[in-house]
Amino acid sequence: MAVIVGAGPSGLLLAHLLLDCAAEKDSLRGLLPVRIFEARDDPRIPLPLYKTRQYCVGLSARGRDAISRVDGLWTEVEKQGVPSSQFVLHIGGRAIALKRNPDKPSLLVNQRSLAAVLVKELQKRYSQKQVQVIYGARCVGVDFNSRAVEFRLKGDETMQVPYDLLVGADGARSVVREAFIRERGFDFQQVNTPYTFKVLHVPRPAELSDDAVHSFRVVTKKDSGDCNCPIRFFFEFAYVTGSTSINFGCFPTPGDGMSVLLGWSPETEPKDLLQIQNAQELQSYVEKYMPPLSVPLEAAEAFISQRPSSSMQVSCSRFYAEKGRAVLIGDAAHAMSNALGQGCNSSLKDVDTFTRMLVEEGDVVSAMKRYSTQQVKEDHAAAYLSQNAFPESKWLRPAYLLGNIVTAGLSKTPLSALIPPSIQSLCSETLIPYSEIVNRNKFWLKLVEVTNLLSAKE
Ligand SMILES: Cc1cc2nc3c(=O)[nH]c(=O)nc-3n(C[C@H](O)[C@H](O)[C@H](O)COP(=O)(O)OP(=O)(O)OC[C@H]3O[C@@H](n4cnc5c(N)ncnc54)[C@H](O)[C@@H]3O)c2cc1C
Repeated sequence: MAVIVGAGPSGLLLAHLLLDCAAEKDSLRGLLPVRIFEARDDPRIPLPLYKTRQYCVGLSARGRDAISRVDGLWTEVEKQGVPSSQFVLHIGGRAIALKRNPDKPSLLVNQRSLAAVLVKELQKRYSQKQVQVIYGARCVGVDFNSRAVEFRLKGDETMQVPYDLLVGADGARSVVREAFIRERGFDFQQVNTPYTFKVLHVPRPAELSDDAVHSFRVVTKKDSGDCNCPIRFFFEFAYVTGSTSINFGCFPTPGDGMSVLLGWSPETEPKDLLQIQNAQELQSYVEKYMPPLSVPLEAAEAFISQRPSSSMQVSCSRFYAEKGRAVLIGDAAHAMSNALGQGCNSSLKDVDTFTRMLVEEGDVVSAMKRYSTQQVKEDHAAAYLSQNAFPESKWLRPAYLLGNIVTAGLSKTPLSALIPPSIQSLCSETLIPYSEIVNRNKFWLKLVEVTNLLSAKE
């Protein structure tokens, strides 16, 4: 029996592919039934989007490739999201479209809708004997010696579940990973990042196109010392010290909605926004500082009562524990910065790699080892890219943004053939291994790494 802890995108896709593996290879029949345990409620229970704090993820080439391994599954996932091939920067009232390849859009999909469609398809395709998904079951401990997992159910009763293969797909704060920490040779780092966010759900204003992610930076309070030059708006977007500003990305959602991700670090915390306790006051704030958005009363109330979410980065030296016949996948193994939008995509790639290796090896332990060797390298590279693809320093950030704007302008001319694809394009539009992308861009990445470190110390 395979036990998967966590019914996020990686746990659910893994269930689909494990069931395929067991059907394909006799030696993998012992993986049946596949049982998935999830702490949260069933995502298929209808809930207005504004009541959730779930954000949109952009599924790009790697995510699409992994999901497409299950017949017809990508078609179902696509119905839940919105394709997007544009990134639009809104600076000082101007909108600058940074062109992405229109033939290779990312699919913007709400996390909850993604989980809902993956579980719905799982239960449509397989019987209860083959797969069981248990919601409201929180993993509270793992014993590698007896190969059993303990879950706490609603109502506080506990349950011990034996397994032949255990998969920790329980996200950045993984409980399964805690059992790995006691294993010899397992090294692990966990860093709370200063990035914090809240999600607001609003109707999509007609001015914002439904095939683009719109990114805004709005200065809400200026210090007298701020730059006053004619292209002030550009520097305000790129880098402003001593001013209060809000940064937000607007992701179109099906049914003409928008999921607005407001993110900040301690230096850019939008204190005035976070102090608001009254829905009408929030509506006025949005009208004043976040046009063209407007927020309905219920969504404003839900936003005020939503706790800010913080993020965490995780790095493990190994993704398997032989004695415990256990593997880590997705954020449980390598939660990374969301700057490049590769967290979910790299998680789905883990699933793809592990299950391919299971079929090739026909044996769980050999597959775990090969999976870990390959994906530790790839996921460390993905995390390094996510950490260092974008400069933060005072001088490099404006230069980088300017370069992007010029490149976008040149994209419609014959000169575009001479411009090498950006790190972002290579990650999101191709299946080139992350380690190869690091290799091709090592000088730029090193420059960003060093200047980011220096600017953090300033
Ligand atoms: C603001 C933001 C924006 C992002 N945007 C993108 C993007 O555009 N593209 C992209 O590729 N990635 C993006 N990511 C990253 C992406 O969300 C994650 O990498 C992805 O969700 C990882 O999937 P997962 O299934 O491994 O983990 P999760 O999605 O975290 O799922 C883990 C599941 O395990 C459950 N669980 C946790 N603990 C327990 C327990 N003890 N017992 C039982 N169940 C448990 C959780 O409830 C959850 O359902 C973003 C992340 C953030 C924070």
